[in-house]
Amino acid sequence: LTEESILERVRRQVVIPRGSGVIVGMGDDCAVFRTPGAKQDLLFTTDLLVEGIHFERTMHSPAAVGHKALARGLSDIAAMGGEPRFCLVSLALPEWAGAPWVDRFYAGLLKIAAATRTVVAGGDLSRAPALTCDIVVAGAAPIGSAIRRDNARVGDSIYVSGRLGGSALGLKTRRGRAWKKHVWPEPRLALGAYLRKKLHATAAMDLSDGLSLDLRRLAIASKVAAEIDAPPVFPGATLDEALHGGEDYELLFTVAAGTRVPPHFEDLPLTRIGIVRRGKTGMVLLSGQPLMPLGYDHFRRP
Ligand SMILES: [Mg+2]
Repeated sequence: LTEESILERVRRQVVIPRGSGVIVGMGDDCAVFRTPGAKQDLLFTTDLLVEGIHFERTMHSPAAVGHKALARGLSDIAAMGGEPRFCLVSLALPEWAGAPWVDRFYAGLLKIAAATRTVVAGGDLSRAPALTCDIVVAGAAPIGSAIRRDNARVGDSIYVSGRLGGSALGLKTRRGRAWKKHVWPEPRLALGAYLRKKLHATAAMDLSDGLSLDLRRLAIASKVAAEIDAPPVFPGATLDEALHGGEDYELLFTVAAGTRVPPHFEDLPLTRIGIVRRGKTGMVLLSGQPLMPLGYDHFRRP
């Protein structure tokens, strides 16, 4: 069982009727919904955060859990070049999570919501044996402009923002900037808007499960292969952590050949790591050798 195989099974059963307004369904960072006559497309994404899987209550403060719950959804909005509008937050609480924990969770969540102008518009509450948070984020982008992941074309250049592997390093060392990167990820909303408006990126997605796996997903969606060199590595991290480590929440994107991409966007390095190639769909070559998709999959056995 892998996430891909489950998704494939569901995809086979789901039908999107004509005229439903759903322009992009399963398989991209966000679903895209269009209403007749609207100037903007609406983007929707949902993310689960589960105690023991995504966080440990002994390790992650409630404010950090609240921050991360929303940051993950905002990162998907950023990946499509969207602007966040509102979110719905559902929380299932075990006995140990009392009012102080909930207050601090919402303090962390509301802080990043305010910073990104995301309105908290509702949600649901329940009891559960492990703390579980499900978040839906809605965003918007001018009609037809959301950056999808299925439009990379042969010859496009492949880029990443930032330096990869920081979150994996932080989870291991629990210290310094890497720990901060792991616990307080920053969704790249301004960069996503820049990719949409200025660079006219052909495809983009956020790096949530590791470059090796996420680039493969982008290549499969676009029905292309990719060839890359080593990506920029977060200080102190290993190349393996940069290639396969999850939760960096940087953006992976492609631009048409000849697009001038500046070396930085604000303080964030933008690095060309490779090129989109013809070849076996989804195949990723690193320095000429096949790169195994060893990034994070909830369902794969170790
Ligand atoms: Mg994503």
